[in-house]
Amino acid sequence: MKYIGAHVSAGGGVENAPLNAAAIGANAFALFTKNQRQWVSAALTDKSISCFKRNCDAGGFDTAFILPHDSYLINLGSPDEEGIMKSRVAFIDEMQRCEQLGLKLLNFHPGSHLNKISVEECLDRIAANINLALSMTKGVTAVIENTAGQGSNVGNKLEEIRYIIERIDDKSRVGVCIDTCHFYSAGYDIVNDYDGAFGEVERVIGLEYLKAIHLNDTKKPLGSRVDRHESIGLGLLGMGFFSRFMKDSRFDDIPIVLETPDDTRWAEEIALLRSLE
Ligand SMILES: [Zn+2]
Ligand SMILES: [Zn+2]
Repeated sequence: MKYIGAHVSAGGGVENAPLNAAAIGANAFALFTKNQRQWVSAALTDKSISCFKRNCDAGGFDTAFILPHDSYLINLGSPDEEGIMKSRVAFIDEMQRCEQLGLKLLNFHPGSHLNKISVEECLDRIAANINLALSMTKGVTAVIENTAGQGSNVGNKLEEIRYIIERIDDKSRVGVCIDTCHFYSAGYDIVNDYDGAFGEVERVIGLEYLKAIHLNDTKKPLGSRVDRHESIGLGLLGMGFFSRFMKDSRFDDIPIVLETPDDTRWAEEIALLRSLE
C-alpha cells in the first residue's frame, strides 16, 4: 500500500499538522516540529504533544508514515567550530522533539563543506554527529536525504550516503530518503533509465535502508545540480515516471511526501497519484 501526503504546515502548533494533512486526503505527512529558520524554539508543551497524538489518531495517521524534517540551518558537516556546535545541539533537540511526539523518523539534508574542507572530511563529521545524536536519544531513525548537489552540499552521489551509513554505529537507526527532484538534478535518469537509476539505490545503498520518498517533479534538467521543485506532472519528470513509480512495490509501506510548490494543488496531486496505482 502507498502512504502519500505532503509537507504540511505546523503553523499555530505541531498539533495542526495532522489536521492539515487530513484536509488534503493524505495518509502520510511531513512537518517541521519547530521554526525551521531559527536556531532555538520554545519547547513543545505537554498540551501540544497530547493534542498532536490525539489528532494523529483521529486522522488515522500511523507514526510510521510521519516524516518530520529538521531545520534548514543545521549543517552536521560544517567546517566551522561554531557552526558544528550549534548544529549538533539543534539536531539533538530535533531528535528529542521527535521522541516526545512519539515519532520514529527524522529526515535531514546531510550537510555542506562550504569549500573549506574536503568532501570526505565533511562526510566524516556528519557521521560522527549522527552517532552522537543517536547515542543521546531512543527510537528515532536518522533519515539522510539525497541532495541535488547544489553549491557545496554533499549527498548528491549515492556513494556519499553509503559512506556515511558505513560509519554509523547503530545501523538499525539510519536510513535514506530519496527525493525524486534532487535525484534527477543530481544526474540519475529516472525518466529514461528508471530501472537503472533505482537499481543504483538497491546496489549502492540497499532497499533495507530506504525509509521514505520525497515525491517532487523538477524544473531543472538532468545533472543540473539545481534544486527547484515543480508540481506533479508539470515538470521534466512527466506522468510516465509517476505512473511507473505508483505501480512500483518497492515504494510500498514507507512515507511518500510531496514538497511541491503549490500547496493549493496538493489534494488534487494526491488524487492524481492515487489514480495511477
Ligand atoms: Zn526533499
Ligand atoms: Zn529540494
